[in-house]
Amino acid sequence: MNIDAATVRRWRVESEGGEPAALAAAEFRTGQPAAGAGEPPAPPGERDGAIVFRLEREAGSPGFIVEAGPERLVIAGASLRDLLDGGAWLRRELGLLAPGPGREAAGPAEGRFPFGRRAFRGAFRERGLVLGCDGLHEQWREWFAFASRNGLNTVFLHDTPPSTWDRLLDVRVGRLFDLWDREGPAIAAEARRLGLQLEFGGHHLSTLIPRAAFEEHPEWFPERGDERTEDFNLCVSNAGARQALQEGARRFFARFAGCDVYHLWADDLRWGGWCECDGCAELTPSDQALLATNLVAEVLAEVAPGARIAHLAYHDTITPPTQVEPRANVDALWAPRNRCYAHALDDGACRRNLQHYLELRGLIAWFGGPERVRAFEYYSDGILFKWMAPPHLGVLPRDAAAYRELGIGGLLDLAVSPRPWWGPNWHAWWFARCAWEADGDAEEALATFCRANFGEHAAAFAEAYRRLETACLQLLERGNLEPMRLGDVLDYNDDPFEELRELAGRAGRALAEFAAAVQALPIAVDGAGLEAVEELAPTVAAGMHLAERVIGWDTVFQGDHAEAMAHVRMADVHLRALGDWYHAHGGPAWSTLAELMLRSARWHTNRVRAMAGGEWNPVP
Ligand SMILES: [Zn+2]
Ligand SMILES: [Zn+2]
Repeated sequence: MNIDAATVRRWRVESEGGEPAALAAAEFRTGQPAAGAGEPPAPPGERDGAIVFRLEREAGSPGFIVEAGPERLVIAGASLRDLLDGGAWLRRELGLLAPGPGREAAGPAEGRFPFGRRAFRGAFRERGLVLGCDGLHEQWREWFAFASRNGLNTVFLHDTPPSTWDRLLDVRVGRLFDLWDREGPAIAAEARRLGLQLEFGGHHLSTLIPRAAFEEHPEWFPERGDERTEDFNLCVSNAGARQALQEGARRFFARFAGCDVYHLWADDLRWGGWCECDGCAELTPSDQALLATNLVAEVLAEVAPGARIAHLAYHDTITPPTQVEPRANVDALWAPRNRCYAHALDDGACRRNLQHYLELRGLIAWFGGPERVRAFEYYSDGILFKWMAPPHLGVLPRDAAAYRELGIGGLLDLAVSPRPWWGPNWHAWWFARCAWEADGDAEEALATFCRANFGEHAAAFAEAYRRLETACLQLLERGNLEPMRLGDVLDYNDDPFEELRELAGRAGRALAEFAAAVQALPIAVDGAGLEAVEELAPTVAAGMHLAERVIGWDTVFQGDHAEAMAHVRMADVHLRALGDWYHAHGGPAWSTLAELMLRSARWHTNRVRAMAGGEWNPVP
């Protein structure tokens, strides 16, 4: 016996048992999708059955219980967030999607609810969205709603590049601190209203120690090659530096009070930011970073008992500490930026990921178990992916299954971008699915997503996403190529050059697949479909730019300079298209990242152009 989703979709919505249930019911009622590509939903209310949100303290948390019968479908949960997670699950079962910030879409109501009582629980205790730049911060309200509607339960405001406090390195700085000064109480209140855990911070550790103190106290700063330098971080063994750090932390927590988890990470460097003085030399970068975090955590325990702080395992701190134990209010945040996104984390065939996987297990051991370790993943990182938005159809569910197998306490997705994401937001939506289910079925999810958003054009868009996936994978597979010295993950190297050869071969396939993605699209669309076509454009332009540049580079090695120059010119054409798209769709909130990244792409292309013109390796 069961009841079908089309019937339930017409039922009225009620609550029982107290305020959290009433809030969850009200939240469920709001924002019904406009009649879109799928079936227009009937307004809930009149018909002969009820969806009931019921506060049930014994229901067990986290998780919720679904009780279905012929005239009632009950979502029972022990807390507001559990009930909202139940609502998020139910909406999806009813074909009502929240496919992007401020977006609702209705697909066909195809599912059925078997009669009886069933328990549900997310694959991870914490499922999080990290809003990582000004452009996304401007839409924080919509993104919080997106997170809640998709069963995420933690939101993290992080800024790239970091906001400054009393440190002015250059003019390219984030504006998160200003946003908090203006809207902090509203942000915290909205997170509470949706039962979302609120996290705040980023690479702000340096900010806590005034750089101007260097003249008077060079000993507070790291010693590098027998010299003290105020460029980065601090000397963690120096008593004065430790005191200054704690004073800075006290001011930081006072200004940004009201969050549940804080992030005061070391400077964003691949290596070279830590101290080599006699007092620090014995400590690895990971130990120095954890020591600094512990000092800050001591202050946090005093001013905000119950709040937690993250030790960031990233770049040269990705390996587990070896001497310093984490304080009780410190959790590990594992951020494997240099991992490979062409293969799943536990794919034994990928050397790079295997190493990361072992480091993660080491970190789990050091923190006394997986519950105190969360993964900070990069699936929605438009910086790492060079403007592209790869669909991650294959890697994301396999990663999530691997992370669940390890039992880690949370899975977070960094959303950061030099450009707005246009239209329905597949990667963030898909992340939320996988964070809830751990082993989502990509084909089924893609079909659901496309039906709700694109109606009759669903199959064409699904094919475009598949082609895009194949295209992006070609460029994400780096083999053994490490990034250039000061470069990011996809700023490939040409050493060993046989690997560049192979990459160039894949780049050729990427060009064909990007073209196939474009070709898969219907020629005339409107609404969400038109927006999705607009969204595809920068991924295709950026991907083809990168592919042409790599092929040109490799062609220089093959000695065909004229042919290499032809590829460089095609790289120019695609970069031009990307820049034009950005200027048509971007805006001031995106410019900090966008302009820097466009200039950087131009710099890399000019370098290959110089090589094609006969200059050998014109790298500074
Ligand atoms: Zn030192
Ligand atoms: Zn790999």
